Amino acid sequence: MERTFLAIKPDGVQRGLVAEIIRRYETKGFTLVGLKFMKVSRELAEKHYGVHRERPFFASLVEFITSGPVVAMVWEGEGVVASARKIIGATNPLTAEPGTIRGDFGINIGRNLIHGSDALETAQTEIALWFKEEELVSWEPCLTPWLK
Ligand code: ADP
Ligand code: MG
Repeated sequence: MERTFLAIKPDGVQRGLVAEIIRRYETKGFTLVGLKFMKVSRELAEKHYGVHRERPFFASLVEFITSGPVVAMVWEGEGVVASARKIIGATNPLTAEPGTIRGDFGINIGRNLIHGSDALETAQTEIALWFKEEELVSWEPCLTPWLK
């Protein structure tokens, strides 16, 4: 089954939006299979955002993501990678559609509340980077038959 990696960034935690953000994925019908509250090391941050290493905002991005605790998550479900990104909204909260997490709660591109894997392959890499296999729980919610 398809899985994606999501992380509520330090601004989402500081602003008390953890439950609100998780609620959107729960009520959509996706299944939570991994969850941890953690401080991000510089090493993990630099690996996670490695693709942006040459961008001018890289240093501030790493600084930000390591500045306070985050909520790292793995969610499962059909089409979850693309759907989770739709729920997140565009990178810049000012242009993100209302109804999306960034569109509803943000105004600053550097404080855009949540990360979500951008493709199936990225999701697999990011899940492996952030979680050990034994930290992921495979289970069948009894809701599932009502969602299909
Ligand atoms: P997304 O998180 O939507 O996948 P990107 O992968 O393009 O966006 O960028 C990763 C993160 O880097 C963004 O979520 C944002 O926090 C930050 N970022 C992207 N572009 C900028 C920018 N122009 N200025 C500052 N920060 C940026
Ligand atoms: Mg990205």
